[in-house]
Amino acid sequence: MAYRGRFAPSPTGLLHAGSLVAALASWLDARAHGGAWLVRIEDVDAPRCVAGAGEAILAQLAACGLHPDEPVWWQHARGEAYAAALQRLRAAGQAYDCGCTRADVDAALAAAGRPHQRFGERVYPGTCRAGLRGRTPRAVRLRVDGRIDWVDRRLGPQSQDLAAEVGDFVLQRADGLRAYQLAVVVDDAAQGITDVVRGEDLADNTARQIALQRALGVPTPRHLHTPLVRAADGHKLSKQNGAAPLDLRDPLAALAAAAAVLGLRVEAAGSLPDWLAAAVVAWAGIIAAPDNRFQEGT
Ligand code: GLU
Repeated sequence: MAYRGRFAPSPTGLLHAGSLVAALASWLDARAHGGAWLVRIEDVDAPRCVAGAGEAILAQLAACGLHPDEPVWWQHARGEAYAAALQRLRAAGQAYDCGCTRADVDAALAAAGRPHQRFGERVYPGTCRAGLRGRTPRAVRLRVDGRIDWVDRRLGPQSQDLAAEVGDFVLQRADGLRAYQLAVVVDDAAQGITDVVRGEDLADNTARQIALQRALGVPTPRHLHTPLVRAADGHKLSKQNGAAPLDLRDPLAALAAAAAVLGLRVEAAGSLPDWLAAAVVAWAGIIAAPDNRFQEGT
């Protein structure tokens, strides 16, 4: 199948050094496979989005010479597709209405002898699986069952017991917003994405997304999760901890720093197009090597 990759930033702020690593890796992998590279602005969580950030991110990518091969998709325009997917899942009995508040979930977990730990995953105990029993519908959840195994091209074999570690998870929130998991899976399928290349902080979502792909009967792409850039305090660089936006007065320096995180050796080149071409050759060399660090995987 012809390779189709994507970079899918949430416009909650500008790109920083960490997000450029994922953007560059997804672009390089698409180019090295002779495939298409798409950009999708994930503005489904409107309250978290910053006005103008989507356009600004596209301008940052363009300044780095990273141009999408097809028109950019914006998730705010995709509501009907998400509603249709929810409808299908509900009709098939794979998604159901949940009337639990967070306090209800905590009370049910405590009653079951598994109190929710601060910062821990709030594993949904399945209270509304058998029906609302008089509760008002709030969220919509996906019914999950058992363990998901998958192979990451960089991290190797991965496994998550979704039922035990996550529980039936939210597809539509109580405030009516569609969850990231639903939007990303519906859009990756609609865009025919064969390869997801993104930051390692998102690896933990993969099992949920595979479960959702199976429930919807759509293909699961291959995955490659890229190394994170750490702030001086050792935490992942993120918009939340105030990572500085990329300084694009010198895009080559920003790209060289991103390439170094990926372990890429790119010969110094005079111009941006020359540097990018050399980086594609370096990336292609890695994936063609017998001890390929980025496995072609399943
Ligand atoms: N929009 C997500 C984020 O910026 C990334 C989604 C993805 O690549 O799957 O965190």
